[in-house]
Amino acid sequence: MSGDETECGARSGTYGHPAPVEEWQRRHTQETRHLRYRRNFGDYAVMRPPAGRDGFVGGPPVP
Ligand SMILES: [Zn+2]
Repeated sequence: MSGDETECGARSGTYGHPAPVEEWQRRHTQETRHLRYRRNFGDYAVMRPPAGRDGFVGGPPVP
């Protein structure tokens, strides 16, 4: 994730956690009075493991 300030082009850099970006934005706002930021979030896809012994595998209907 990264925080970009669109009007002056200052960039926070990219971090794996929002906290350092928010800290950068807070400091940048104090220094420059800039208030607009563009934040880019990464997109993660989480794959589910294939069903094993404990997974649902189907079977005859329960009476
Ligand atoms: Zn700025």
